[in-house]
Amino acid sequence: MATIVKKEHRCPECNKIFQVSMHATILPGEHPELKKSILSETLFSFTCPHCGYEADMVYPVLYHDREAEYMIYLSAQPESALSQKVPQELSEVRKRVVHNQKELKEKILVFDAGLDDAAVEIVKLAVLDIVAKKYGDDSARAFFLDAEEDTIRFAVYFTGYTDPVPQTAGIALYRQAQELLDRARWHEKNRFLKVDRTLAQSLIAQAKEA
Ligand SMILES: [Zn+2]
Repeated sequence: MATIVKKEHRCPECNKIFQVSMHATILPGEHPELKKSILSETLFSFTCPHCGYEADMVYPVLYHDREAEYMIYLSAQPESALSQKVPQELSEVRKRVVHNQKELKEKILVFDAGLDDAAVEIVKLAVLDIVAKKYGDDSARAFFLDAEEDTIRFAVYFTGYTDPVPQTAGIALYRQAQELLDRARWHEKNRFLKVDRTLAQSLIAQAKEA
């Protein structure tokens, strides 16, 4: 069952009202087409039926893959989710919060590839370090793309450019990241977690102290 909320929206271009459908929860097992639209980054794209104006309207959504046992909550203000109590029956489910649709897409790709997202974040730091040295851009952003047997691919977005550049990392880096997580005693908790660059940096610091 998809939970759809219909909302009136005023077009910023022609000022006319049109209706948009928003999903409160997305269950990809039941609605693979919604998952597809997240992966193609079009879930939040709306077109005004009156004038054709296109805009992205990101709204809070809970993505719940029951089969793969993970939940990702997308919200521009995720703080409320971070402090929320989670029922015990969800303790085996990985729970994440993300800020935007690129991050939502990335988490789905990471989990569907069977990878640990905390380890991927640590690898990403190494990749961004290489990018900073190679191209002199230390504010570039990277997003997981896919993994093959011996490499992990990231899409790197340089400051001021919209098209990403692919950058690969060897799987050995991922294995090292997993070992680092062990040393840092990283484990899942029964609440929503923000597994991002900041967490990766603090896990690296914890592993050094251990
Ligand atoms: Zn319009």
